[in-house]
Formats: sequence, structure tokens, C-alpha cells
Amino acid sequence: TDIVAFDNVVKRYPGGKLALDRVSLRLARGEMAFLTGHSGAGKSTLMKLIGLIERPTRGRVVINGTDLAKVRRAHIPRYRQRVGLIFQNYNLLYDRTVFDNVALPLVIRGIGHTEIARRVRAALDTVGLLSHEKKFPITLSGGEQQRVGIARAVVNRPHLLLADEPTGNLDPDLSADIMRLFTRLNETGTSIMIATHAIDLVEHMGYRRIALDHGHLEAG
Ligand code: ADP
Ligand code: ADP
Repeated sequence: TDIVAFDNVVKRYPGGKLALDRVSLRLARGEMAFLTGHSGAGKSTLMKLIGLIERPTRGRVVINGTDLAKVRRAHIPRYRQRVGLIFQNYNLLYDRTVFDNVALPLVIRGIGHTEIARRVRAALDTVGLLSHEKKFPITLSGGEQQRVGIARAVVNRPHLLLADEPTGNLDPDLSADIMRLFTRLNETGTSIMIATHAIDLVEHMGYRRIALDHGHLEAG
């Protein structure tokens, strides 16, 4: 089965215009794809529907075999544990160490200390920040802060990673590093969707591009 399936999805914000207009798309399990389009094209909206931050006006969203219309509000936190979200502004807690930031999703689930330490270190190792676990995010570079955000997103072993403009605040070299990190995570089996308007950064990478234009999916 596909990890992501959209069937004729429409999203109209209350009082607003059409953010997504009859979008149908599939992401295969294990696939990585870039979601491109100008500002306002609907990229964030598409990701918010997958993260159950917004609900569609019409149509169906099925993630890893689960029809999201059937996920009741009380079960949203549990659903989100298996979808790793990565943000442009990192969304880190600046009064907590790198270790504690990455541990947070596991602490929320009530996982034991020993297992948390093992998994946090494995995730920090994956992003190359093992030696930074005791530091505070403010002392890290932007690229390092984003890698903390990625470690936090993968620590729950998500079925799917969603990154919304993950390199939006980074210079070209650091952006390329982050994209290489996503490539590595994908090579170990994680399905990944990355929204970006930095087409120049991704067009040579050889991954599928899903293009949105004013809420419409473009062919290709
Ligand atoms: P992108 O991520 O590609 O920039 P968005 O999904 O953020 O696009 O926005 C798509 C459209 O939906 C835009 O016209 C935007 O103004 C509108 N929109 C986004 N969020 C809201 C909201 N909460 N309420 C009303 N309109 C919104
Ligand atoms: P386990 O042995 O229990 O499968 P690991 O020790 O291999 O777990 O990894 C520990 C944590 O690091 C896991 O929670 C996992 O989500 C994360 N992690 C490490 N590498 C990856 C990766 N390539 N993709 C996603 N998550 C990863």
C-alpha cells in the first residue's frame, strides 16, 4: 500500500479561498518526493492535512492505510507519533538541552530512561550531533539546530517524515547538507515528503517533484 494517498481533496479555509482544489496524489512506501510551488500554492496546507492539523473540506486522505476521517480527536496524538514533522523555524525548546529536545516525543509516550537514552543517542548519531547532546540549541548554528529538529522527528521511528521548507532559513551549503541527510534517511527506508520553493536546490537530485500551483496539482 501507499504511505500517502489523496483522493480528490479539497481544502477551503473558513471565509478564505480554495487552498487545495481536487488534489489526488500517491506517495509509495519508501519514496522521497519534493513538494514544490510558489508561496500560497497550498504546500503547507497539504502537509497540515497529513499531520491532522487541518481537516479537508472534501475528499479522502489515507496515511499508511488509515483513513484520516476515521481518526477521532482523542486519537490524534497517537497518530502524530508516527508522523515526523520538521519545520522551517526548527520549533526547538530553547530552555532545554539538545538531548532533552530530542527526548521529548519519547518522554511524552512514557518510555523508560534507559530506552530514551539509547534512542536519543542513536537519533543524534544519525544526524551527526552525538557530541552536542548537553548543549543548548542557541549555541548551535542554524544547520545544527535543524539537525536537532530532524533527530526529534525520527526518534519515534515514524512511517513518514514531513518537512515544510526545512532549509528556508539556511544558506545554500547548509541547505545541501540537510538535503543529503534526508537522502540518507530515505535510503534507510523512511518515506519522506519535503515542501520547498528552492527548486534550484532539488532539481538535480533526481527525486520526484510534486508541483502545486494555486491549489492545483500539476502533471508530472
Ligand atoms: P504554501 O505553503 O504553498 O505557501 P499555504 O498552504 O500556506 O501555501 O496556503 C495556501 C492558501 O491558503 C493561501 O492562499 C493562503 O493564504 C491560504 N491559507 C493558508 N492558511 C490559511 C488559514 N489558516 N486561513 C485562511 N487561509 C489560509
Ligand atoms: P532500534 O534498534 O530499536 O530499531 P535504533 O537504535 O536503530 O533503533 O535507532 C534509535 C532511534 O533512532 C530510533 O528511534 C530511530 O527512529 C532513530 N533513527 C535512526 N536512524 C534512523 C533513520 N535512518 N530513519 C529514521 N529513524 C532513525
